[in-house]
Order: sequence, then structure tokens, then C-alpha cells
Amino acid sequence: MHRWAHGSPAEKPSGRVSNRHLAGQVFGLFRPHRHQVVLAVGLIVFTSGLGVVNPILIKFVFDALFPVGGGGPEMGLVGIYAGLMILIPMITGVVGIAQTYQINSIGQRLMEDLRNSLYAHLQGLSMRFFTSTRTGEIQSRFTNDIGGIQSVVTDTASSIVANVVVIASTLVAMLVLSWQLTALSLFMMPVFLFLTYRAGNARRKVTLLAQESKAEMSAITQETLSISGILLGKTFGRQREEMERFRSENRQVADLSIRAAMVGRVLFAMVQVFFSIAPALVYLVSAFVIYHSSGLSSGITAGTIVAITTLQSRLFFPIGQMLQVSVEAQSSLALFERIFDYLEIPQDIVDAPDAVPLPSRRAGAEIELDHVYFRYDPAHLTTQQSAVHADQEAPRPWAIEDLEMHIAPGQLAAIVGPTGAGKTTVSYLIPRLYDVTLGAVRIDGHDVRSLTLASIADQLGIVTQETYLFHASVRRNLLYARPDATQEELEAACRAAFIHDRITELADGYDTVVGERGYRFSGGEKQRMAIARVILKSPRILILDEATAALDTTSERLVQAALSPLIRERTTIAIAHRLSTILAADVIFVIDHGRLVEHGTHAELLRMGGLYATLYEHQFAPQGATEPPAARSSGRGAAEVVPDGEDGVVAAGA
Ligand code: ADP
Repeated sequence: MHRWAHGSPAEKPSGRVSNRHLAGQVFGLFRPHRHQVVLAVGLIVFTSGLGVVNPILIKFVFDALFPVGGGGPEMGLVGIYAGLMILIPMITGVVGIAQTYQINSIGQRLMEDLRNSLYAHLQGLSMRFFTSTRTGEIQSRFTNDIGGIQSVVTDTASSIVANVVVIASTLVAMLVLSWQLTALSLFMMPVFLFLTYRAGNARRKVTLLAQESKAEMSAITQETLSISGILLGKTFGRQREEMERFRSENRQVADLSIRAAMVGRVLFAMVQVFFSIAPALVYLVSAFVIYHSSGLSSGITAGTIVAITTLQSRLFFPIGQMLQVSVEAQSSLALFERIFDYLEIPQDIVDAPDAVPLPSRRAGAEIELDHVYFRYDPAHLTTQQSAVHADQEAPRPWAIEDLEMHIAPGQLAAIVGPTGAGKTTVSYLIPRLYDVTLGAVRIDGHDVRSLTLASIADQLGIVTQETYLFHASVRRNLLYARPDATQEELEAACRAAFIHDRITELADGYDTVVGERGYRFSGGEKQRMAIARVILKSPRILILDEATAALDTTSERLVQAALSPLIRERTTIAIAHRLSTILAADVIFVIDHGRLVEHGTHAELLRMGGLYATLYEHQFAPQGATEPPAARSSGRGAAEVVPDGEDGVVAAGA
């Protein structure tokens, strides 16, 4: 179940207020299509209203067939009435086609609108949302929930309109025919209304539960049947457990769906019993009325009785349907509720009203972290959460605590520190993927919150550990960085990233499709593609999250060679895992537990003998004589570090 802090249904005011609010939102969706809606309603009113004519004609036909005064049938009248009885259904049929078209197109347009707004809204949500929501959940909003809207319009909404018209026109016709028999029929109405009310609430609750269970199930299939999921399951031998988990959720879905179907059904069965009793009562009461009003003055003829019993089913059947429809309307509201739930999640990271674009300069940018404090998901730091963690470890309030960093234009800054220190988090704060809790992040002296997100994205490039390539051609993947790049620019970028030759070796060259069902590049190749993508973009600020996964020596050297020209001439912040990078860095920031422990150049930090010295010894320092060739291949690293290297670094560089 979705547990988003701002949008959980449990936190919403329940009952009337929220229902009215919800209804308002639903009506709002129809507003752009109001002309179509008016036309559709008009057509429904026409066809449903016309339906009352035939039962009335029954009375006239009967009275013409068996005139009250006796004698033979009045042939002329019977002919006219019979002709009308044939013509009217034909008209209804033709108009009905137009009506079906209108209703379906309203339903589809509504779904189209909802899918568009949901997609646009989700695009605007911050990383916070996506790290706390499973993809299966999001998928289910699109498929299950929005998919259900079509039937809301074609079945539920249109049958409400049709039934209202049918009930009203039928009532009028019945009243004209015989008020006594109409009164008898109305006598049963309150019973139905009561049942409707009861069934609606019960059905809505079960439907909501069923929807949640379905979402859970599709999340499980998404997670466990993905390539990584299945690999994990197989290698850890957890298939039996996964199967159990799936089975129990699947059972829940089935059980809840059965319950959802039954809640309305039991009450509907009771209505059907009433349907059968109704004509019998008409005959009895008619006999009583005719007997007591000495025949003719009651106005009840054989035609009247036949017409009334026909009309009665036209009255009860729609009421029975309304009973179902109102149950459906309730569960439809649940669908809308789940969709609006998502649409109402606030977009927490958006342009400020007075945001300005980051002025672009030629040189690299200046970056400053000014007493930055940050924590993930502040809403979740509740007492309940603390209790969960109590037996493990005390919850750490800050992922980043009072962090001060200053990076001059054009510098290469390396961030090092143990796992979980907060390095990646820092790399998220600069492009404003998250907002700081306290303090400020500044680019060229501008608080990132005062800048437009688009201008930051324009001037900033990220190479992450996990290279994400779309299931599309190599060309399209590269053009993602700059759609207007020419083939020459594309190739130049790929040459600079040492991946051009590899791409041209492939049968389809730049048109080779990458991804799950396409060509699988190796880790090093993917990284070089990502580097080519960033070279193409040529941002002023580069954030580089170096892969921790070891590459083979050749790949490592190629990636390193691809990176060195990229790092030059721009401000680079590297989460460093390679010796060459830290040696090349102008400044190294050492982070631990979200705090800056020390900073300086490699040589300065080594002399201090603090955390960096320890890290260097265990993580980065070349082991024995076979030092990694990485340092050598960094154009800048090797050359610039040598003068500092009185302490074994020379060996690494030489
Ligand atoms: P590093 O990159 O140095 O390994 P991170 O920046 O990834 O460290 O993580 C810093 C701290 O923040 C860790 O304690 C980690 O568990 C926590 N953290 C990271 N991402 C999230 C998240 N999405 N939600 C909550 N906590 C997170």
C-alpha cells in the first residue's frame, strides 16, 4: 500500500466533506468536455424519454382492440398505434448509436486527460517520492485506476442520467393513467433507497481494499519478475518464499473481489423478489378499486392494467439499476480518490515564483555549501519510526550535518569517505534533486532555490555509477543530452570518450538498439557512453559518481582516459573511488557521518594522519609493486601530483 506522507488516504478528512470535495474534483474533470457532455445528456434524455411512449401505446392499442363500449376492434387506430410502436424503437436505435459514440469518447478523453496530468505531475515530483514508492504502484495508478474510469463514464454516469429520465417520465405516465396504482408502486420506493444506502458504503470499502491488494500484487510481480529481481530470487534460492508471498496476496485479491461482487449482489436479489411481487399486487389492488368504484368511474381499463404493469417494470428496473449504479458510483469514487491522491502529492521541488536562470559563463562555476544540514524524509522521523529503530540503532537525524564546502571555478573536488558517509547525498543537493533542510547550496553565489531548475540542469552534467541507457538506439541515447547535435558532434564526443570505435564495430553502428532486449554493453562501455553523453552536453559543472565496481584494467584505463579531458575546463565534483581522481583533485573533502572531517590536497591530508590517511592506506593506496595503471592514464593526475609526492605517490604516478 502506498504510504506517502502527504497523500495517504488515512490522513484525509473522511465522510461528507471529503466526498463533496471529491465530487467537485470529478466534476472539474468533465468541464473541458462540457459541450460533449451536454450533447450526450441530451441524447440520453431523448432516447430514455422516448421509451415511455411504447407502454402508453399499449394502453391505447388495448383500448382500441377491446373498446370499453364493446364491439369489434377499431382497425384504423390499431394500425396507427402499431405503426408508431414499430417506428419509435427504430428512432431510438439510431439515436442510440450517436449516444454511444458521445459517451465513449467522453470516457476516453477523460482518461487521456488524467493520464496526461498524472504523468506530468509525476515528472515534477522530487526524488523523495520515487525513492519511497515502488514502480509497480505507479503503474497500477495508470492501468488499474485510470483504466477503470472508462466504465465509470460509459456505465455508471450515463446510466444515472438515463435512469433518472426513465423514472421521471414513467412516473408521469403512470400518474396520468392511474394515481391509485402509482401510489401502490411508490409505496415500495423507500425500501429500495434504504438498501441502496447500505450497500453503497460496504461496497466502497471492499473495492478500495481490493484495489490496494491488486496494486500490491502487481508491485510484487514487477519487483520479482524483473531481471534483477529474478536473479536475486534464483541466486538466493528464495523462489519458494516469493511464491508464498505472491500466493497469499493473490488469494487476498480473489477473496476481496468476491466480497466486492457479493456486497451489492445480495441486496440486488432482494429487489428482484420485489419485481415479481409488484404485478401481482397491481391485479389485486385493481380488482379492489374497480369493485369499490362500481366499474367505469375508476378509469381503470384492461389497457390501463397492462400499461401499468409494463410501466412498473420500467420504474422498478431503473430503481434496481440505480441501486447497483449507486454502489458502482461509490466504488468509482474510490478510483478517483486514488488518482487524485497522487495528483495531490505536492511538488516540493519546483521553481520559486521569482526564480531566475543561472547566468551562463564560459568558465566553470563556483560552488558553495554553506552550513548545510539535510535529512531524508523529515515527515518520517516520527516517534513510531524511532520505536522501530530503537532496538537496532538510534535514528540518525541528519544525513548531512553542518557541511561547509567551497569549490572554486574550474576546480576538481574529490569527495571521499566511508560508505554511508553522505557523499551521494551531497551530489544530490547541488543539482537540487533534494532541497537542503537548513543552510544553502550556492552556484556562482546564487542559492540554487532561487534559480530555475531548467537552467541548473542545462549547465550541469552527472555521470552516475549506474549508467542508465534507454531501450533505444545508441544515437537516441546520446542525443538525449543534446537533441540538436549533428552526427559529427556525436562522433567527436564518442571519440573523446573512447567509445566510437566500439560502436562502429557493431553491425548497426550508431543505430544499434541498447538495453534489456537489445545489445548489451559491458560496464566500462556503458560508462564511456555516459561520458560521451555528458561531453556532448558540455556542462559547466560536472558531477561524477565513480563506479565502485571494479573494471578490468583495459576498461579502467579507457574510462579514465575518457574522463580526463572532460574534467578539464569545468568545475567537477567527483565522488572518488579511484586513486587517479583523488591524486588529480585540487581539493579533497573527507566526509564521515554527514560531517566534513578534513579537507585539503592529497599531500596535506596524508600529513595530517587523520581519516583520509587511514582511508588512503586501506582503499586507495597501490598495493605492492603492481599499482593500478589508472593514475598513469589520467592526463592531469599523474603530471600534477608528482611535485607533491614525497611520500610514495611518486611511485603511483611514475
Ligand atoms: P554514501 O554515498 O557516502 O555511501 P549516501 O549519501 O548514499 O552515502 O547516504 C548517506 C546516508 O543517508 C546513509 O545513512 C543512508 O542510509 C541515508 N540515505 C541515503 N539515501 C536515502 C533515502 N532515499 N532515504 C533515506 N535515507 C537515505
